[in-house]
Amino acid sequence: MKIFIDFDDTIFNTKKFKHDLISIFLKHGVTLSDFENSYYAFQKPNKTKGLHYDPRAQIRALKKNNRGDGKKLEEEISVFLSKLETYVFGDVLKFLQMFPRRNLFILSYGHDVFQRKKIKGAGISGLVRRVFVNGNNKIELVMYLARKYAFSPKEDIILIDDRSEQLSRTKKTQQRVKTFHICRKEGRYSDLVCLEKDYSVKNLKEAARIIKKEKMQ
Ligand SMILES: [Mg+2]
Repeated sequence: MKIFIDFDDTIFNTKKFKHDLISIFLKHGVTLSDFENSYYAFQKPNKTKGLHYDPRAQIRALKKNNRGDGKKLEEEISVFLSKLETYVFGDVLKFLQMFPRRNLFILSYGHDVFQRKKIKGAGISGLVRRVFVNGNNKIELVMYLARKYAFSPKEDIILIDDRSEQLSRTKKTQQRVKTFHICRKEGRYSDLVCLEKDYSVKNLKEAARIIKKEKMQ
């Protein structure tokens, strides 16, 4: 069995993380409206180029407009990003430790450097075989890896994600992959329904129970 697991809102409490990240900006002279304006001002024009939110780029944008203490912000955010274990949901470690490391992959989406910092800060990279930060098409990457690593056709492939579009795309193209829609009450998208999935779970404990019950291997 190979398990591909999403990071934001699945492994990581991104809502709380974002809230605490904003607090650092507020502490160093950036108003909430400056934060929001610079967040989106940076994000929108770059989205088409395939770039994503990165606090360092945001600090640069704020600096240009004389908003906030750039040096202090950079320092404090760098310390903040190095210790993020507290944002990892309580059932994650137990779940990952149930399976051999070689069968586990993290598939994340976002700004490459920033996402990797978050995942490293969360302290879970060592429990999985590889971490990928890639474009918005997870199933394509899963199937590429299935060929690259020559997964046995008898082996179950599992994808756990909170975003319905990833799971719908998977169900349309790859029936072989078992899709788990995780809908944590702490997640940012917990109010969105996902119609095309194999299983719907509230947390990873529930996912583990299904994997066991269905004798996936
Ligand atoms: Mg997610």
